[in-house]
Order: sequence, then structure tokens, then C-alpha cells
Amino acid sequence: MTDGVLDLQRHTHRRLNILTGDWVLVSPHRTNRPWQGQIEQRPADAVPSFDPECYMCPGNRRASGARNPAYTGTFVFPNDFAALQPDAPPHRMSIDDLFVAAGEPGICRVVCFSPRHDLTLSRMAVEEIRRVIDVCVEQSRELGRHEEIQYVQIFENRGAMMGASNPHPHGQIWDRLGRDLLGDYLALEQRQSARVICRNAHFAALVPFWAVWPFETMVISTRQLGAIDELSTEERASLADVLKRLTTRYDNLFQSPFPYSMGLHVQPADGELHPEWRLHAHFYPPLLRSASIRKFMVGYELLATPQRDITPERAAERLRGSSERHYSE
Ligand SMILES: [Zn+2]
Ligand SMILES: [Zn+2]
Repeated sequence: MTDGVLDLQRHTHRRLNILTGDWVLVSPHRTNRPWQGQIEQRPADAVPSFDPECYMCPGNRRASGARNPAYTGTFVFPNDFAALQPDAPPHRMSIDDLFVAAGEPGICRVVCFSPRHDLTLSRMAVEEIRRVIDVCVEQSRELGRHEEIQYVQIFENRGAMMGASNPHPHGQIWDRLGRDLLGDYLALEQRQSARVICRNAHFAALVPFWAVWPFETMVISTRQLGAIDELSTEERASLADVLKRLTTRYDNLFQSPFPYSMGLHVQPADGELHPEWRLHAHFYPPLLRSASIRKFMVGYELLATPQRDITPERAAERLRGSSERHYSE
């Protein structure tokens, strides 16, 4: 990390929206990143299992010049067009409390789920998903040990519609914050079961009461724990199982690969104890009525408040009615 002056045209930083109190992350160096997202219109049928042009496929060269190994399981590499850079000075600046910004150092890595260019979580075996979880555990342990890192964010953008710049199945890791509220919430949901989609011994998948996106879901641990490295062997297998079942139901809903942004919310990597935290994942899929008709966040949503038509209870019913056997099988 450098000790220089924060340069808003060069360093990754956050800017404060003084009207809402929200922060926006600005990554000025990131404008040249390659886009391999919208090459295929209908991914499922057309995507090959190996793409010589893909910078994530085994043996191929990346933008940095590095060559990928001939990996056979999962593969982790530094994001060559990282939104966060480790050398941003962590200083805060303010001009009359109106222009408020802070340097935001961090590390971005890419996790390839599989050497196969054409696979998705929904079409991977539970044991293969389990290996992706193991890699995420190792990565969060390693990154969380860095002193300047306060949070490790694990997420996946799936499908060009969600901004995935490459169809190769991959997730990313970006790092950067009472009572067990989600535990109380989950207990109530399990009593009512109107919004629960599926569950196993250790996890439940449900449409949250306050869902904004039509088929938004959460996967919540039935045990109170904050970090993924606290998961037992059995719990890791359970998480893989619930992810497989939920993503299969998604794909079956419109008989098409279902785009989404998915991420885990784990406790902060600040070295403190967090008994209030409960490990969970969010899925934010954009689709509304079919594989091509999506919900837009425009007009009223941008200016006033998010709005939906299909109720969360109805959405849960649709997903419950969707098969756990993938339509392509
Ligand atoms: Zn690939
Ligand atoms: Zn969350």
C-alpha cells in the first residue's frame, strides 16, 4: 500500500452521495476491460465446452500475459481488470463536507468453477459445487488475514444480462461490515412456509418477505454462524446441495439458463466476534415473465421506491412447483 496522495482520476475510491448517505465505488483504471458477454444470444445451446478465445479456459492466455494452467477442477487467478487495487492510498478527503471521497484499497480474484466453458452451477454435480465452496473457504481465510482487509465479498454474476463479461462459469471475490435477526426471521418463515422453496438439514432457500426482484431468493443457514470457514464438512455438502437444487429450479422456470447476481454475506473480516451474524446468500435474478422479458429498475423505482407485481408468495409457489431435475437432462 502506498502512502501517497489520493488521486481521484487514478486510484480506486469511494464517493459519498450526500443526498442518500450511500457510497459509490469508482474504479478509474478499469475502462479497458474485455467484454465476452454478449457474443452468444442463447447461451445454453450454443456455448462450446472449450473456447480458444476465453481467458478463463485451461491453457489460454489472459490479458496480463499469464497463461492458465491445464486445470481440471477449480482455478483462482487475480482479476486482470480489478475494480479494487491494493495500492490505493486509504485516505479520506472532504471539501466542505460536499465532495467526500476515500481511497479504497482491495484485492479482486476470479474463481473458475470448472474447466468446462459451458457449465453452470445448476448443471454441475453436487460434489463439484462442494469443491467451489472449499475454494471459497480457503480464499476467504487467506484474504481475511490481510490487515487492511475488513470484508471478503464472494459473488457470481451469471449471464450477459447480469453483466457477466464472460460465459465461463466463475465467481469473484472482492473484499472491503445486536441480535441474530436472520435467525428469528428464518424461524418465522419456517413456521409459515409460504415463502420457503426448499430446504435440507442445514440450509433453507426462500423468497424474502421484502423481495424486490420478481424471483429474488435467500439461502440461510439454519445454524448461527458468521464465516464460511465455520461450516462443517456436512454443512458444506448441504450448501452445495441447496445451491444445486435452487439453481436447477431457476433454470427450469423458463426452460432456459437463468441469469442472476448471487453473493454470500459473511461476517466482517475484522478479527472481532460476531454472534449477531448468520451466514446467508442472496440471489438477484432480473427475469420477470420469460427468458427474455426482464424487470427494469426505471422511472418510479429510480426516483421513488422499488415496486413489484407478482407477490413474493406467488414467486415462491412458482419456484416450489419447478422441478429439481434439470430440463436439459
Ligand atoms: Zn472459458
Ligand atoms: Zn445479506
